[in-house]
Amino acid sequence: MSDCLFCKIIAGEIPSKKIYEDEDVFAFYDISPQAPIHFLVIPKKHIPHVMDLKNEDSILMGKMLFQAQKIAKELGLEPNGARFVFNCKESACQTVWHIHLHVLGGRDFGWPPG
Ligand code: 5GP
Ligand code: ZN
Repeated sequence: MSDCLFCKIIAGEIPSKKIYEDEDVFAFYDISPQAPIHFLVIPKKHIPHVMDLKNEDSILMGKMLFQAQKIAKELGLEPNGARFVFNCKESACQTVWHIHLHVLGGRDFGWPPG
């Protein structure tokens, strides 16, 4: 999608600190980290948010989650763990409307979230 920030990052039109890329998935560090480690995992397919997911996206979402946990381990977030978050639409403060999985780690988190 031409006016989407994350589509532009995937295309290399906006620079990012890339961690991982394959034919379906792209991962990069968040520009405004909320933890010592904070990266985003996104599909190359433009999907605005979680509520837009179709049955046909199930394998893609599985690939995203698999790569997210693999990267998390490679960055040392095992054995302590990490937070894996999808913000969805206005009530959850989603700011970039291209679905993305936040992975935050390297510190402890509270629950419930604010
Ligand atoms: P949301 O609030 O939509 O769940 O998360 C969007 C995330 O994208 C935020 O954590 C924000 O810091 C990150 N972000 C926004 N613009 C950029 C950018 O240009 N580059 C990178 N790497 N991250 C960005
Ligand atoms: Zn997009």
